[in-house]
Amino acid sequence: MSDCIFCRIAAGEIAADLVESDDDLVAFRDLHPQAPVHVLVIPRRHIASLAEVEASDEEVLGKLYAATARLARRLGLDGNFRVVTNSGARAGQSVFHLHAHLLGGRDFDWPPG
Ligand code: 5GP
Ligand code: ZN
Repeated sequence: MSDCIFCRIAAGEIAADLVESDDDLVAFRDLHPQAPVHVLVIPRRHIASLAEVEASDEEVLGKLYAATARLARRLGLDGNFRVVTNSGARAGQSVFHLHAHLLGGRDFDWPPG
């Protein structure tokens, strides 16, 4: 989707601080980090939100979750991190291309706001 900012990051049309990338996924640092480590992990293929996931997306979602855990290890988060996916504007989603926030490097409260 040419008007989707994360599709454009995945295509290399908009600069981002890339952490990892393969045929299916791209990981890059959040522009407004909410923790010492704040990485966004996205599927290259446009999926608007978790609410719109279909059966054919299951494989890439599995890869996304596993890649997020690998990244947490690689970035030295030592088993302590939070993975967040906001779905829908009322839950705080502001970019409508599915992404996992990988947050770490500090303590987190529960419940989230
Ligand atoms: P959401 O609010 O949809 O859960 O998360 C979207 C995230 O994308 C936000 O944390 C925001 O800071 C980040 N973001 C928005 N635009 C850009 C951008 O152009 N580059 C990067 N690296 N992050 C962005
Ligand atoms: Zn997109």
